[in-house]
Amino acid sequence: TDPVAYIRQTIRSVPDWPKPGVTFRDITPVLQDPRSFRVLVDLFVYRYMRQRLDLVAGIDARGFILGSVLAYELNLGFVPVRKQGKLPHRTLSEDYSLEYGNAAVEMHDDAVKPGQRVLLIDDLIATGGTMLAATKLLQRLGANVVEAACIIDLPELKGSETITATGLPVYSVCQF
Ligand code: 5GP
Repeated sequence: TDPVAYIRQTIRSVPDWPKPGVTFRDITPVLQDPRSFRVLVDLFVYRYMRQRLDLVAGIDARGFILGSVLAYELNLGFVPVRKQGKLPHRTLSEDYSLEYGNAAVEMHDDAVKPGQRVLLIDDLIATGGTMLAATKLLQRLGANVVEAACIIDLPELKGSETITATGLPVYSVCQF
């Protein structure tokens, strides 16, 4: 079977979570099944193995699961982009707005050196706010963010469009 179709059908759609009217796309079944987990990671590995990259930056928390395996396979370093208040050393912070209220992502100020080529990864792009905030953090440190990668894009929410419009290419394995 087609690897993308296999991954897509393994994603679980949970109606009315975290609130009524929202359908949550749950990737835990993809991770749980060794075949789909391998197929997924291999899709990313083959896409990025011939690109000159220095680091993979994964977004808290599901981006850590994908990003760390990918960094290991590509023989790259891994940098966590964390939710507010988790990092012990000197941090940079970038605020962004959610549907209700605000959030912030943080990185250590020595996580990236100027000019390093960074792949940014998370499980899903909705409005794109999280990816854009993470990109700004990386760029403030002088990073060259090469692409924003995810498993799932929700094109109706136009997040990937917004990200692409800033000049940052987006790669998604599948769309819902
Ligand atoms: P955005 O900032 O693009 O609006 O939202 C994306 C962030 O919210 C990602 O970090 C992602 O993990 C999380 N997220 C929002 N909706 C979903 C969903 O339906 N499924 C999953 N797995 N994550 C979601």
